[in-house]
Amino acid sequence: MRENIVAGNWKMNNDLAETQELLGQLKLQMVKEPEATVMVAPSFTNLYPTFQALKGTPVIVAAQNMHESKNGAYTGEVSADMLKSVGVSTVILGHSERRAYFNETGELLSKKVKTAIENDMKVIFCFGEELEDRKNDRHFDLVEKQLKEGLFDLPQSSWKNIILAYEPVWAIGTGETASPEQAQEMHKHIRTLLHKNVGKEVAENTSILYGGSVKPANAKEIFAKEDVDGGLIGGASLNAVDFIAIVNSF
Ligand code: PEP
Repeated sequence: MRENIVAGNWKMNNDLAETQELLGQLKLQMVKEPEATVMVAPSFTNLYPTFQALKGTPVIVAAQNMHESKNGAYTGEVSADMLKSVGVSTVILGHSERRAYFNETGELLSKKVKTAIENDMKVIFCFGEELEDRKNDRHFDLVEKQLKEGLFDLPQSSWKNIILAYEPVWAIGTGETASPEQAQEMHKHIRTLLHKNVGKEVAENTSILYGGSVKPANAKEIFAKEDVDGGLIGGASLNAVDFIAIVNSF
């Protein structure tokens, strides 16, 4: 059985006071036993206060990035050990903003994924095509390339640590969402690729989240699709009422 997951990516939003306000709202809105595993990913500075505030709730705290090395002279970077020491053992890797603005390549992401797995961390691995790729009918190939570069050399045993997040770049923060049919078509393609490159069991058991302008008004329809196992939510995750409405959309 695949896990349904809704993860909120708070990106570079909210200082400490605003984070605490949002956490208070979240705890008020949260149902005791949500239909999905719920995760939130605050900025590095807000990880520990978030972890503390969510103790006793089922919400998992994730980081938005991580360095691939154990430690050393990497000014401004954060390691797996550091994350784990503040209660964080899930990390988002490969977000399109990191690929686009911080030049994160498939090769680098493959190293980061391996470091996370060596540290027994879970990875939400993001990938997805740009509008030009879709217009030129390259989206299926592009997604295959990103998965191949980042993940397909992992042994089967590592896949229990992997959550996939298909995020078409043209739908992120744009208000434009892939239709439920477009999401299903790509998720099915991804599952077929998993079957071919990793194995049947991994294909059946890996959660594939959709990300790109998910909101309460469209979550139900998207999550109802057979191969969509939840969502990675940006903008709407900054509002507790909207985020919990999305969590409750299964
Ligand atoms: C994201 O950044 O991962 C994302 C899906 O953002 P939004 O929901 O705002 O499109």
